[in-house]
This record gives sequence, C-alpha cells and structure tokens, in this order.
Amino acid sequence: MTQKRAITVAYGDGIGPEIMQAALDIIQAAGAQLDIEVIEIGEKVYLRGNTAGIEPSAWESLRRTKVFLKAPITTPQGGGFKSLNVTTRKMLGLYANVRPCTSYYPYVDTKHPKMDLVIVRENEEDLYAGIEHQQTDEVVQCLKLISRPGCEKIVRYAFEYARQYNRKKVTCFTKDNIMKLTDGLFHKVFDEIAAEYKDIENEHWIIDIGAAKLADTPEAFDVIVTPNLYGDIISDIAAQITGSVGLAGSANIGDGCAMFEAIHGSAPRRAGQDLANPSGLLLGAVQMLVHIGQADVASNVHNAWLATLEQGIHTYDIYKEGVSKEKVGTKAFAQAVIARMGTKPEKFAPVAYKAAATISIKPSPTKVAKKELVGVDVFIHYKDRDPNKLGAAIRGFKAGQMNFNMITNRGVKVYPDGFEETFCTDHWRLRFKNEEMKPSTYTDVMELQKQVMQAGFDIIKTENLYTLDGKPSFSLGQGQ
Ligand code: NAD
Repeated sequence: MTQKRAITVAYGDGIGPEIMQAALDIIQAAGAQLDIEVIEIGEKVYLRGNTAGIEPSAWESLRRTKVFLKAPITTPQGGGFKSLNVTTRKMLGLYANVRPCTSYYPYVDTKHPKMDLVIVRENEEDLYAGIEHQQTDEVVQCLKLISRPGCEKIVRYAFEYARQYNRKKVTCFTKDNIMKLTDGLFHKVFDEIAAEYKDIENEHWIIDIGAAKLADTPEAFDVIVTPNLYGDIISDIAAQITGSVGLAGSANIGDGCAMFEAIHGSAPRRAGQDLANPSGLLLGAVQMLVHIGQADVASNVHNAWLATLEQGIHTYDIYKEGVSKEKVGTKAFAQAVIARMGTKPEKFAPVAYKAAATISIKPSPTKVAKKELVGVDVFIHYKDRDPNKLGAAIRGFKAGQMNFNMITNRGVKVYPDGFEETFCTDHWRLRFKNEEMKPSTYTDVMELQKQVMQAGFDIIKTENLYTLDGKPSFSLGQGQ
C-alpha cells in the first residue's frame, strides 16, 4: 500500500470550491493516498485587510507539505491587492509553469483536431516582477526583469521535459526584435542550451507571428518555452482553442515545492450554479499525482476522464448539439468519471504514466564581467514639453568623461534634431555619456544630477550606463 502523502489544498473562490470538491472526489475514488491539509487563501483573506491574500499559517502548511493543489482565486480589483498566484509562484521558487493543451476531437468540438502541445512558461520574472511606479502626472512604468539564471532554468527545464515526455521539438517565443536586451537574453540562452540537445529539434519565433501561427496551426508546435507574460497569454489561447479554457491543467514546479491548478480563473459569474467544468483542475491533480509518485492513480483518473469525454458526457462549456450526448453539471460530471474508474477509453489512446524523475536544474555559475560606468540616463518630470528649450538648458552639462548625448521622450529621440511630429509627454530622459566609452565614476553621476537639479529640473530617477567587457549594455534611443 502506497504511503499517504501530505498535500495542502485551497478551495479558492468563485467556481473554486465546486471544482475542487469534484477533483478531490475523483482522485480519492481512484485510490489517491493523500493526507489533506486545507488552507484558506484568496478573496476572504484579502477582504480581511491582508493585501497578500494568505496568512502565515498557510505558508507554514505549504512549506511543510511542499505540494499544493489550488483552486482558482479572485484577486479583488484595485485596492493594492497583490496577486496571490504570482506571490506563491515566486515565494516558493516555482520557476516552471507547465501547461499541456490537447484537443479531444471529435468528442470535444474544436477547429484544431490535431493539437497536442505543452507550454513551458517562465514563472518568476519578466513584467511579473510587479515593480511599477508613477513618477509624473502622465506616465506610469513597469520594470521588466530577465535574468540569465532565470532563462537558463526555464529553457533547460523545457528541453529536459521534452526528453522525459518524448517530445520532438522545443520552440522559443520572444520579442527580441524590439526588446534586444531582455528578450534578447532569453533567445540567446535558448540558442546556447538548444545546441546541447542534439536529439531535439529547436526553433525560434517572434511572439506576434508565433501566437498567430499557434492560433491558426497549433499542430505545428510541440513544446513552447517563453517568458512569463507571453506564456500566460498564449496558454489561455491554446487551452481555449482545444475546446474550452476549462480543459487545461497546470503544474508550477520548483526545486523543492510544486503547485497544481487549472489554468483558468475563478469565473465568478458561474459560481455556485453547479455548472463549471472541473477538468482543468482535475488534470492539474493528475500532474500532481505523477509528481508525488502515484503514477498508477494518475493513469486511472486520466483514463476514466477520457472515457467520460468520449462518451459525450459534457459540461456546458464543451457541450455541443450533435457531438455531445448528455449535458451535465459539475457534480454529475464527477460522478460520471467515478463511475468509469478502472475502465480505459476506447476511442482515445489510453494514458500510462510512469513515475517521472524530478527535473532538477542548476544554473551555471555567474560569469563576472568587467563593468565600467560610461554614462547616465537622468529622467525628469518636465511639464513645458519643449525639447529645444530643454536641450538648450542642459546641453552644456558635463562631469568626468560624460557629456550631453541626447534627450528622448518615451524612448524616441527628440533632441537634437527631433521631429515636430513626435508627441511628447511630461516624462523625459536626458542621456549623458562618453562617446568613446571612457569610464567615469558615480561621483561624476552625482555631479551631473546636481547640475540638472540646480537648473530647476525635477529628477525622478537615474539609470547608469555601463559597458560589460567593453560592450555597451544599454539600448540606443529610437531614431538614434
Ligand atoms: P476566468 O478564467 O475565471 O473566466 C473566463 C471565462 O471562462 C468564464 O466566464 C467562463 O465562461 C469560462 N470558464 C473559465 N473556467 C471555466 C470552467 N472551469 N468551466 C467552464 N467555463 C469556464 O477569467 P476572468 O473572468 O478573467 O477572471 C476571473 C477571476 O479569476 C479574476 O479575479 C482573476 O484575477 C482570477 N484568476 C485567477 C487565476 C488563478 O487563481 N490561477 C487565474 C486567472 C484568473
């Protein structure tokens, strides 16, 4: 007899409690050996004034069991509440978000009968760093952070996953034609690591045309690895075009802990009506069973679920006249799966999970470069909106080896030689640097700031400009 495994469960908000009950009933009927600790997270906790949406006792449970089965939660809009999903993924180091999206044609209607892909989404970085500021009346900003170890971990995970699950190709999606440093690093690391996996095909698509191709011809893809935001968006699209966003499960994997969920949200409009499809969360629970070494139970659940689908027993989101046989609610769907426990699908190929070795990735040691300070971008809040007046006021400023270089507004060069047509906001960047990349010091940066400040300008922030091993590590102005 398999030993009971402690897991932490959260019933969540909206449709969460209904689909969690359904998923737990099904996996327990299949013989899952679980010792369940229930925690409360989400809306109720937020509304008690806890902006994180989770109490310290819940963290203790998660850090003890290291396995979390989580129903979707509602993040109240406004009010400064931080997304608990993002917090959990980052606090527990769950860097890999694995989202399989498969179509079940002809038993579930879809325009994409041959779709069977897995999205491996980076889960800790990118615009989800959640570092946002408003420093002028008109402009807000969000910091996009991409790290080399972060890229290495997720890209290597995608290739290791492809090998473990016998997948043939890994595709990388980025927007590195525009974001040359951030997405450029992700793409570069992808190329470096892809070269080590000679048995697996690799390719890169720019995210815009890649997403279009994914929506049009998803069968062209196998494993897709991509930064956080793109992965979030394309996995909803991918799940939806299999037939319903309610069909896909998701695993969030870290070195120690793991969290399993549906990819969809709490669908508050469907809550409490016994309508929601529990399949996404159930398939998340199947991923969990494989993860905790109960692969036989996972196979039983998955096969009974496939048998239910192919027999046309469908919740409202996938029900289609002429394709489906019976429209059922959440509870009846769970009962139908339980009634088929121990049977195998006849039309779909049965699933046979094997105990999978945990994929453990160690990023390579940091290569320390020779870093030299060669300039600074000084950002100001300037309400006059006259680039020529601003330019005339500051172009003589210099300190150390740094001289005035250019002024941009929202990244576009507006001085010298700007265009009248360029729209300017109240958020300006003044760039000072040495043309030959000769080094200055931070004291020089402070001296420049002093000159800008004494001329009456409102400094909102600075960014230092460096060369790393002699190469500039900052982007040019648009139009430069
Ligand atoms: P959603 O995914 O909750 O719902 C969008 C629509 O998809 C629903 O109106 C419904 O028509 C359909 N749908 C979703 N799940 C379904 C299911 N299981 N069965 C049948 N139909 C289903 O997205 P939303 O409306 O943008 O977000 C609602 C809330 O969920 C928000 O508060 C959001 O912050 C939260 N959210 C939570 C998670 C999570 O906890 N992991 C993820 C995404 C969104």
